[in-house]
Amino acid sequence: MSDPASSVVSRAAALVEDRTLPAVRAWKEAHPDGLVVGYLPIYVPRPLIEAMGALPVAVFGGGDAIDIIRGDSYFQSYICHIPRSTVELGLCGDLDALDAVLFPSICDVIRNLGGMWRMLFPDKLSLYVDLPQNFDMAVGGKFYVHEMQRIAGELVKRGAKPLEPEALRQAIARENTRRAAIAELDLLRRTEPWRVKASEAYLVIRAGATLPAAEHEAMVREFLAAVRQREARPVDNVRVVLVGSFCEQPPFDLIRALERSGCDIVDDDFQLGLRMIDGDIPGDDDPIEALSRAYLERGRDTASRYIGDLVKGAGLIGRVKASHADGVIFAAASFCDPALLDQPMLEHALTKAGVPHTSFKFAENTGQFQVIREQAGAFSDAVKLWGAAS
Ligand code: SF4
Repeated sequence: MSDPASSVVSRAAALVEDRTLPAVRAWKEAHPDGLVVGYLPIYVPRPLIEAMGALPVAVFGGGDAIDIIRGDSYFQSYICHIPRSTVELGLCGDLDALDAVLFPSICDVIRNLGGMWRMLFPDKLSLYVDLPQNFDMAVGGKFYVHEMQRIAGELVKRGAKPLEPEALRQAIARENTRRAAIAELDLLRRTEPWRVKASEAYLVIRAGATLPAAEHEAMVREFLAAVRQREARPVDNVRVVLVGSFCEQPPFDLIRALERSGCDIVDDDFQLGLRMIDGDIPGDDDPIEALSRAYLERGRDTASRYIGDLVKGAGLIGRVKASHADGVIFAAASFCDPALLDQPMLEHALTKAGVPHTSFKFAENTGQFQVIREQAGAFSDAVKLWGAAS
């Protein structure tokens, strides 16, 4: 019998794998006056862009689908891979549909990529987005409101609709319902991981990178309805939280290799931007202030976000407990400074709390997974046998 959930996954996979952005080109044809606004990981305020009649598009580089011919020559060898493949995509025309690109302040590499983009594509709008690292509403909040107004002003100069409070309220509401659907999917993965694989959820969520919020929500809900009908039995796998893949994404086959090694990934930080805010953003009188407050007060812990006096690792331990995970796998992109600088502190916190953990690094175009599969398999066996990794 055919599985309706698989047909949703196939549609999502087609969107993810086609690096020429077919959904974006279709949107542009249907909205000839609309701007397409790309953005690099992790997070930008997508509702702000939608409210201006524009389409936000998350750019995750070229993965393992593109040979880097020219992209390497723009960057030193000892940095991660995503800027090279993003430049390569730009130079070969695959990102031509993007009228503007936003570069959020998550690390020096993204900042440098923004500068490179401005030189390579002077006709396109290229904007640096300075996300606040002060979480006092009167300081960082005010700053972030100004930053969003500045971005809105630049988009208007390129032809976007002026930002209106009611349109922003509606866009925030659409993003809330999309996030609620993703949260339901995440909950199902935690409670019945045998019913929905992490690799399937990965594709269905990532497809939203190029879709308007309402369209993506419909896809996630269709998938949820279908997997709930699936016949599935519990499997004796080890439950793991995967940490560190919030920006450059691992090759899809690497996620599959982890699953085949006996691990259920019950929580992860893939495509963190679509889940960056916990819970609903209220429909306040002042919606731009509501967006700012939500980022300050309910933004998820991640390596590029200052945590002030909070205890490093406490957020991760909370996620391990909430997902009833048996252990943690650190999977960071090679040379990813934010992830790799955070990792020792997170490992220390896990060791202190008695949570087993292991780690490996990847590049988005890594082609060999056998070693990682064996490592994850050994980790899973150790956790099953002794409750801790050796
Ligand atoms: S993978 Fe890490 S170092 Fe590279 S751009 Fe992303 S956050 Fe920055």
